[in-house]
Amino acid sequence: MIKKAKRKAQSAKRPGLRKISVFLCLIFTLCAMCYTLCAYAEKIETKYFTVSLCEGCSLSSFAEKINATKLFRLDALSGKSSDIRSVIKEGIDSLFLEVCDALDVTLKGYRGSIVVYPDSVEVSKTIYSNSQIIEANLPSLYIPSHNTIYISFKDTTAGMLAHEMAHAAISTYFVTALPSKVQEILAGYSEYSIRKKTGSLPQK
Ligand SMILES: [Zn+2]
Repeated sequence: MIKKAKRKAQSAKRPGLRKISVFLCLIFTLCAMCYTLCAYAEKIETKYFTVSLCEGCSLSSFAEKINATKLFRLDALSGKSSDIRSVIKEGIDSLFLEVCDALDVTLKGYRGSIVVYPDSVEVSKTIYSNSQIIEANLPSLYIPSHNTIYISFKDTTAGMLAHEMAHAAISTYFVTALPSKVQEILAGYSEYSIRKKTGSLPQK
C-alpha cells in the first residue's frame, strides 16, 4: 500500500512522462491499424476460407480471374447483382467443392485461409530470404503449418487456385502425410479438371 501510494505520488509529480507514454501508445495503435488496413484491404469470409486481399487487388478482377461467373454461372458481373463479395464467396466455395469432388474427398467443417498478394515477389517472401526472392518467383503456394494458401493476384487463375486448394484438402484429409510427389500428382489432376471445365487448356 505504501509502495503504491509512493508510486502514485511519483507519477503525479511527472505528468509529462504520462503524456508521453499515452502519446506513444496512440501512435503505436494508429501504426498497427494503418499496417493492417494497408496489408489487407479486403477480407471475405466464405464457408471454407477466410480470403484476405491486399491493397490494389480489385474484387471484380479477382472474381473474373477465378472464373466465378463462367464456371459457376454467377450473374453478378452481368449486372443482375451488384454484390461482388457474394460472387467471390460462392466462387471460392464452389471451386473448393469441385476440387474435393475431383479428389473424391469430403471435408466436413474445413476452414482455411487464402491470402492474395499483389505479385509473386510478395508470395515468395513468405518462405524465402531476401536474396532468394527474385529467383524463387513463386506465383502460389500452400503452407500446411499455416493452413494458408498464398497466391499472386497478378498470376491468379482458377486452375492455379484449384491446385493449391487440392494441397490444402490433401494435407487435411490424410492423417499421415502423402509423399510430396503423390501430392503434386493429385494437385495437378485437380488443376487439370478445373482447367478442362473452364476451357483454359491449350487447344490441340
Ligand atoms: Zn503443387
